[in-house]
Formats: sequence, structure tokens, C-alpha cells
Amino acid sequence: MSIDSDKPDDVIVIGAGPAGLAAGAHLAASGGKVSIFEKEGQVGGISKTVEFKGYRFDLGGHRFFTKSAAVNNLWNETLGSDFLTRPRLSRIYYRNKFFNYPLKPANALFGLGIPTSVGLALSYLKSRIFPYRDEETFEQWVSNRFGKKLYSVFFKTYTEKLWGMPCSEIRAEWAAQRIKGLSLTSAIRNAFFPDKSGNVKTLIDSFQYPKFGPGMMYEKMAGKIENLGGKIFLESDIVEIKHETGAIRAVIVRRNGETESEEHSASHFISSMPITDLVKRLSPSPPPEVVAAAEKLSFRSFISVSLIMNLRNAFPDTWVYVHSPEVMMGRIQNFGNWSPHMLADPARTALGVEYFCTEGDELWRMKDESLIALALEELEKVRLGSKADFLDGFVTRVPKAYPVYDADYPRNLLVIRDYLAGFSNLQPVGRYGMFKYNNMDHSILTGLQAAANALGEQHDIWSVNTDQEYLETCRA
Ligand SMILES: Cc1cc2nc3c(=O)[nH]c(=O)nc-3n(C[C@H](O)[C@H](O)[C@H](O)COP(=O)(O)OP(=O)(O)OC[C@H]3O[C@@H](n4cnc5c(N)ncnc54)[C@H](O)[C@@H]3O)c2cc1C
Repeated sequence: MSIDSDKPDDVIVIGAGPAGLAAGAHLAASGGKVSIFEKEGQVGGISKTVEFKGYRFDLGGHRFFTKSAAVNNLWNETLGSDFLTRPRLSRIYYRNKFFNYPLKPANALFGLGIPTSVGLALSYLKSRIFPYRDEETFEQWVSNRFGKKLYSVFFKTYTEKLWGMPCSEIRAEWAAQRIKGLSLTSAIRNAFFPDKSGNVKTLIDSFQYPKFGPGMMYEKMAGKIENLGGKIFLESDIVEIKHETGAIRAVIVRRNGETESEEHSASHFISSMPITDLVKRLSPSPPPEVVAAAEKLSFRSFISVSLIMNLRNAFPDTWVYVHSPEVMMGRIQNFGNWSPHMLADPARTALGVEYFCTEGDELWRMKDESLIALALEELEKVRLGSKADFLDGFVTRVPKAYPVYDADYPRNLLVIRDYLAGFSNLQPVGRYGMFKYNNMDHSILTGLQAAANALGEQHDIWSVNTDQEYLETCRA
């Protein structure tokens, strides 16, 4: 799988999100030449920062945390002192009340009342004594660890908003990947006896964040790649991937606004485009069962309604999870608290009101003005904003934001993986690229490992994000 030594320069990377850029950075730093093709006009992928009237908006709010020294080094080398450590406050809004998240016992007890809290404790004991025998669904997995009642208060409504389906249909893997190692007992233990040194405290109380939002990290990374001779082509959509005798030979690129397409060949290909698109764009087409498997994989999308409000720091949270089922919004980001440098004017507030949806559904198709009106109305309902303070706003639709872990996805993904493994010089990386619920650090790690493989090393990229623990949350 190593690059031909006569042609050390020809790796093509599809996509300039964290995974593609990490691959590009490693290859460029190792002296290889690399070309990255990105269909958007901006780098960063889903981790980009959108600028509007001098205010900066993150798509979702990206905390930077990792257990990987390689990723940590890359982030710190890229940004230096512009990589800030920021304090965090996040709460859950449920039944007209705010609850600290991660939970604080006194706050939860006070908010829920003694009878409900006793009910939660009894329900927890019941789940410990009579657990679900099978842990195939999200509902079973969480109930066994937290009790059925706590599951329905603090997990069910938000999770169902996010996935748009009942928790009884969501695979347990998603919970296991996100809240591995956490149970009610460990949550309470952490709440009473917080870890003063390690990761738990770090993740709960503070996080790292670029001064001007996550896009800054990836723009700087792109700049470094170019300084080392790597090439990044923006507005360049890979529309076809040609293969022959078990190897990828070339990609067909369509530049924005141009009718003619170009062909680029290379020895090695790293793809962070959605794995479903990769399958569709292979030429000749894969066997029908592989195409059918790709068609069965689905993604959840999300909409961020960005609002500039005419008041100083509207609320103290960095973000709020909105569990209440009477509003459709899932989460609200308060970007001035992520980094004060996100604001053009400190006397104003920049919010991201988030809706989870499916590409093409009613919410997705709603006009921007209607989405802004909906966000303002719902902000008033949860008492976190007033229409009277609204100054300006815009809408960003993010397709394919979350790979959906439904009951059939492992089988379908395996069919695709097995087929793609037949190509000697193609590596899918990243979140959509591997159809895996990867955070930035996992995505970056897959990019770094794919680049190292292209240089002759041997890493199993699919093992990234299978055994790492996420100590805090099942929240996306
Ligand atoms: C709401 C939300 C919140 C998140 N919060 C966090 C967080 O707090 N911390 C964290 O670590 N992670 C977080 N993540 C995850 C993080 O965003 C992803 O792990 C990361 O962006 C994935 O990087 P990637 O390079 O694999 O994919 P992407 O970022 O999607 O990049 C893929 C790139 O490929 C390009 N592309 C696609 N098709 C083509 C084509 N045909 N031709 C050329 N280019 C193409 C795309 O335009 C894109 O730029 C969050 C994700 C979401 C959705």
C-alpha cells in the first residue's frame, strides 16, 4: 500500500475537513506531495466556522478534546497560544426548569422535587435487580445503567429529537460509544467527589477552543500544508472515481461553475467524502448488493439558525440542551461564551439554535425566514431570548451530520467495507467517510493513520474509536 518511491508526490485526498487536512498535513510534513480536493469554497468541513457581519458561528459547537497525543500535538502546533482553554457551563432545559449537565445532585433534587427523585432512585434499583437481558437498543442500554425513569427524564426526549426515531429502535452501540464507562453510580460519584486532576474534570469544567472558532484550526492547518508544497483545490467536487483491476486510477473533478471536468490520477487515494457517495461515484459501479447496502445507510441532518441579539450575554451557558418536547429545538449555543473573540461587539449575543432533521423533510425545506421566526418563538418559550432583541440572522443546513446507527447498519456497512477492502490503494477516513460516529479527534487520527499507511506503515484505521472511553456524555 506504500506510495511508489518514483512518484512520492501523488496522493489524492478527497475532502478538506479535519480528516482530509490531517492526512494532508502528515503527508506534506513527510515530504510527500499531496493534492486535496474540497467541494466547498472553505476548508473545515462540518468543523468550519461561518462568518456573518463580523460574528463567528460554529456549526454545533465543537469542543476540542482528545486522548491521542498525536492529535493533541497537531492541534497545539497548529494554533499555539490561539488555542484557548475555556470554562464551560451547560444545562438541560426540561419541564420549565434548568438542570446542570453533567448532573449535580442538589440541583437535580431541587429541580425534580423529592417524590420524583425518590422514584428515580427506586427505578434505578429495579433496573439493577431486573435489568433488560438483551442490550440491543439505546433504551435498554441506558435504562440498565441509569434506571428507566432517569432515562425518560434525561435521555429519551433529547435523543429522540436528535435521531427522529424512538429510542427503542436506536442501536445500543451509539450509547456504548458515547457513554462507555458511565453509570448512575459513577455519575453520582463524580458529582460528589469530582476528579481533581484527570480527564473527567477537564471535560466537565473546561474545554479547548480556537480563539476564532474551530474553522481557525483548519484554516491554519491548510495554510501549513500549502507552505509545505501541498495543494488544496476548493470548489472542486469529485464526481467520479475510476478504478481498474483492484486499484483506483483517477478521480474526475468538477470545478464550481465550470462545465468541463478534469481527470487527476495518483498512486494512492484517501477519501473523507460520505461513504455512500463514494460507492455511488465509483466507476465502473460496484456490484448491486454493495450499491443496495449504501442506499440503506442513512444520515440525520441538522440546521443551525444563527441569531445576533441586541443584548449583552443573554445567558451564562456555553450551550443548553433543550429536552422539553413542546419545542422542536434541540440545543442552543451561546458563542460569546465559547470564545469572546467570536463576537464583533461584546454588547451583543450570538446564538446558534439547532434543529435536527432529515434531509428533504418539512423542517429542511422550510424557508430561512420561517426558520428564524420559529427559532425566535421557541427561544421566548424557553425564556432564553426575546423577539424584540433580534437584530439579524441566517440559516445553515448541514446535510449528513450524523450517521444513523439503525438495526441494519452493521450488516450494510460490512458489505461496503468488504468491497472497498478489495482496492489496494483506497482508504476511507473520517466521520462520513467511514460512517462512524467519530469526533474531530477520531476523524483526525484516521487521517493521520491513512497518511502513514500511504507512506508504508500499517495501521488498522477501523480500530480508531472502538476502545476509547468517552467519560462524559451521550449528547451529540
Ligand atoms: C452538530 C455537531 C457537533 C459536533 N461537535 C463536536 C465536538 O464538540 N467535538 C468534536 O471533536 N467533534 C464534534 N463533531 C464531529 C466533527 O464535526 C467531525 O468529527 C468532523 O468534522 C469530521 O471530519 P471529517 O473530515 O471526517 O468530515 P467533514 O468535516 O464532513 O469533512 C468532509 C469534507 O469532504 C468534503 N466533500 C464531501 N464530498 C465531496 C466531494 N464529492 N468532493 C470533494 N469534497 C467533498 C465536504 O465538503 C467536507 O468539507 C460534531 C459534529 C456535529 C454534526
